[in-house]
Amino acid sequence: MAGPVIHTYRAAEPGLFVNSYLVEAEAGVVAVDTGLLVSDIEALRARLRALHKPLLAILVTHPHPDHFNGVLGLVQDKEVPVYAAASVARVIEEIAEAKREQWSPTYGAEWPAKTYYPNSLLSDRAQVRFGELTFTVRVLGPAESHADSYFLLAADGRAPVAFTGDLAFHGTHPYTADGHSASWLAALDTLADELAGVGTLYPGHGGPAGPGVLAEQRRYLLHYREIVRRLSGGEATVPPSARAELDRAMQAFLPGAPLSWMIGLGADAVAGELAAAGLAGAGVS
Ligand SMILES: [Zn+2]
Repeated sequence: MAGPVIHTYRAAEPGLFVNSYLVEAEAGVVAVDTGLLVSDIEALRARLRALHKPLLAILVTHPHPDHFNGVLGLVQDKEVPVYAAASVARVIEEIAEAKREQWSPTYGAEWPAKTYYPNSLLSDRAQVRFGELTFTVRVLGPAESHADSYFLLAADGRAPVAFTGDLAFHGTHPYTADGHSASWLAALDTLADELAGVGTLYPGHGGPAGPGVLAEQRRYLLHYREIVRRLSGGEATVPPSARAELDRAMQAFLPGAPLSWMIGLGADAVAGELAAAGLAGAGVS
């Protein structure tokens, strides 16, 4: 092989269009994130099986179910190292059961019945090697989720690429309901510097992108915070009467983008964040 091949499995809308990546190297395959719903996880496993190479490891970028739900389905009963930053693994352990209780009534048998937790914990900048592949984890703290990280992949002198989880959505509305938009913006500033020389970013949602996708995510969040700030008027919620305006504003910002139901999902979380920071009433015109 001339180098690793990165296979993308992208879920359809019920599975939030989430990407799972299979990085195929000479001796085996490393999976990065694993999908949300059982039907997608089975399809991802079929894709892996069709490569006719062993699964060497699974890497999990952050503690949201659309990224960690499929770990068990890929591991099955084999012993496979499941790598995650220690902070990412801790949040998965804290939230996995609550997420199952919250979402199982909606998704039924499509929500995996069990969670397989990361078993190989990484500290910031730790490296893991699989033959010609070297992955370096970078831990960024709360951003899109309660604990975000990304994996840089270097392979035999080729230009590095990065698996950036949900630090930047590409062409879809983002999930903002964990309420860390301020630290997310700070993380994006850090990333813009760190990843300036990286040719391709493989995001959790949307197609591969250049580093410019980080600036786009930053602009989206700034705009979202500004609209929420105005509509919440200093309170920790966006009143129901103002939800349609928030929807309209963000859909105008990202015309035609999918996952638009996520706009309202994060409204109160971000309003609460702004109110707690004392920013909600500042600068109202
Ligand atoms: Zn996601």
